[in-house]
Amino acid sequence: FVGSLIVGADGMNSDVRNCLADRTSPKGSWLTMDHKKFNVKAWTSPASGLRMKVLQFPANFTIPDAEGDLVTESETIYAIRSVNTRPLNYISLGLLPVKDPNMVRSTNVITRPNHDIWKLRSPQECKDWFTKAFPRLRLNKLVSDDEWERFYHSQGTTFPKCRYCPGMQVSHPSGNSGVVLVGDAVHAFPPDIGQGINAGFGDVEALDRALKGRDLITNKPTEKSLTKLSDALKEYERVRSPEISALIRLARFGSPYQYRQPLRKDRVGRHLWTLNVVMRTVMNKVSFGLLPPAAIMRSMDKRFTYRRLMRDADLTTTGMMALFFVAAWKLFLGAVIKRGFLG
Ligand SMILES: Cc1cc2nc3c(=O)[nH]c(=O)nc-3n(C[C@H](O)[C@H](O)[C@H](O)COP(=O)(O)OP(=O)(O)OC[C@H]3O[C@@H](n4cnc5c(N)ncnc54)[C@H](O)[C@@H]3O)c2cc1C
Repeated sequence: FVGSLIVGADGMNSDVRNCLADRTSPKGSWLTMDHKKFNVKAWTSPASGLRMKVLQFPANFTIPDAEGDLVTESETIYAIRSVNTRPLNYISLGLLPVKDPNMVRSTNVITRPNHDIWKLRSPQECKDWFTKAFPRLRLNKLVSDDEWERFYHSQGTTFPKCRYCPGMQVSHPSGNSGVVLVGDAVHAFPPDIGQGINAGFGDVEALDRALKGRDLITNKPTEKSLTKLSDALKEYERVRSPEISALIRLARFGSPYQYRQPLRKDRVGRHLWTLNVVMRTVMNKVSFGLLPPAAIMRSMDKRFTYRRLMRDADLTTTGMMALFFVAAWKLFLGAVIKRGFLG
């Protein structure tokens, strides 16, 4: 097979990216000229390393309560908490909304890797454990034996670190051929900010615009003449790579404590995170919108690039730090002057 453009859309463990990063693998010399930019940079977020399995409930299942049966709705989000409360046996079944009212409801079970559910040794043990943890759910009716069997054998998945590689393309010196990366091959992170698919689509849209010689952000025709394939690929990397770098920062700090991770450091982190978001929301309100709210609050607004979100957040952080230091300095000076007068 001969092609002028290879698009590496092969996911987080991308062979295409690994091949570009590996200086020793045999390939054309131009492919290894700047191999370092394809090395992955990774940061552990509080959500990295969590394990997830899915248990399927029927559509519109019911939850008994004091006033009768609550019939669940497909487009409503639910979190059903267990009666267990200890760090390694507490569990929350998370249900995301689905459009189709007849669709089965996937309940996400997300825990630390040393949680009790990973030690269950048979489908029956799973059934017994969950029945005890959720006594109000009629699990014997909601979940078939086949589903317990599937659930038990499923390996689940582990949330990755927040990671990306700065390199997104490499071009032949002739300018007529190249290799380009999109999606998880470039960036991956835990699903807390719900931007994984969007970010991949963003790459594809940007690449399409670059190949058509249009502005990557506004989609307007540009003055620049991107006559060669390599010009388009370089433009794609120039604009998109800083955007991905900002996205990874958003993934690290956006909303990493939403799984109610049980460790003490998680609980402290969750309180600090909440305090930070509340402070930014209050400042946004009292400044009549002059100061931005927390970046995660604006991440669904398509008017903002990830870079803009993080730049605004950084400016606010700098302002808050400056205010804090000025206040601390004033307090300190006040105390010194008072002591001077008294002494
Ligand atoms: C637990 C979890 C929950 C998530 N939840 C969300 C969410 O709610 N919302 C959201 O937007 N994102 C979510 N994401 C992220 C989202 O799944 C990814 O961002 C998205 O799937 C990336 O798409 P992709 O096409 O780049 O890579 P992938 O979906 O990984 O697709 C890569 C494809 O390439 C194929 N492939 C790999 N190697 C080769 C090879 N050598 N030859 C041929 N084919 C190959 C693979 O089989 C695969 O089909 C979640 C991720 C995880 C782990």
